[in-house]
Amino acid sequence: MIFPAHAIPGLRILVLLACLSLCGVSARAALPVIITIDTETSSGCTPAGCFPDPLSGRVYGVLDGRAYGIGMIMDLLEKRGLRGTFFVNAYLDSWYPEQEVAEMVASIIRRGHDVQFHAHAEFRCFRRCGPQDMDCRFRCSRSEGRTAGTSLENQIEVLREGALNIERWSGRYPVAYRGGALQADVNTLKALKALDIKIDSSLAGPGHPLAAVLPVNQLGVHEGVLEVPLLAYEENLVLSRRLRFLDQESAILGEQRHLLEQAADMGLGAVTLLMHSFSFCDPRVACPIEANIERFDALLDYLVGRQDRFRVMTMRDFWEAYEKDPRAYLLAPPARLPEVGYGLTLYRSVVRFNQGWMNVAFLLGNVVAALLLLATLFWGARRLRRRQQAS
Ligand SMILES: [Zn+2]
Repeated sequence: MIFPAHAIPGLRILVLLACLSLCGVSARAALPVIITIDTETSSGCTPAGCFPDPLSGRVYGVLDGRAYGIGMIMDLLEKRGLRGTFFVNAYLDSWYPEQEVAEMVASIIRRGHDVQFHAHAEFRCFRRCGPQDMDCRFRCSRSEGRTAGTSLENQIEVLREGALNIERWSGRYPVAYRGGALQADVNTLKALKALDIKIDSSLAGPGHPLAAVLPVNQLGVHEGVLEVPLLAYEENLVLSRRLRFLDQESAILGEQRHLLEQAADMGLGAVTLLMHSFSFCDPRVACPIEANIERFDALLDYLVGRQDRFRVMTMRDFWEAYEKDPRAYLLAPPARLPEVGYGLTLYRSVVRFNQGWMNVAFLLGNVVAALLLLATLFWGARRLRRRQQAS
């Protein structure tokens, strides 16, 4: 026999509390995942001078009439109704015609994606130094061509210019900032606060300068700025440990999924995935990079298939959610870093054998160690058998 809830005193309240608690758990359980695309070219410096490639290279990724850059990243996101956050280098106009940069940013905004502020301030040096004047460039890159490591006044001036550029090109003042090469220090946070930029997303692991004042991996507030860090993790190689951070280009799909699951289990406030406008096509290295395209496609399928666990958001959307209820996201820092075990690391070194000397060194080292172990076992077994025959 089934008792209606109203028949037992207090049962209805219990049912209501249980429902509220479950609803709360499921809302909290969806970990915000912010897909961030650093959108930039290189200064293209050699001893002969600095000559950046055109935007068609590392930003649009054009090869043989196809585009593997920001357009393809947006296509893959939009296929699932998702949007990304493009951290655009705010000083690109120092080398490229401003109209060209503004059109690139507009092409992202038109498709409903988020544009935020990335600072490769060394680009500012193109304004006052000729491309071949390396002495001028050296002096400039120690002052107005740099952010972290310089005075608060300098950082405010440099970052103000960048923030206003992003506002002019995108139509909205930025809410989030990421330092070039992830550089940021306490003066950077103070400058962001002075400029009313709400979020920094530069902290990457325990060795980062901001790790002295902010938690690693967990959201935190310092100098009035919210830090949304990159996800640092350890590779457990049995005899040693190596520190890395979540990066679409360097981690295989198995590692990315494993790390995201751990981040959700650890109760992190949000996770950022780092990639670049040239993740799928870097004309000076390889284009297209099919493995990166397939991996991103598969990761998005995974995230969309696990909406109970993960919620893909832009930085701007995340800021709006955070502002409404900061306590839902400012959670206790986890006791340890997420970890990728020996098996997954070995598997990555096999599938990415031709990509980077570290994969080659790790795989060859393990093959040599395995052969030595087998030889030792074989030698030991033979000795044992001889002894048994002799006795
Ligand atoms: Zn960058």
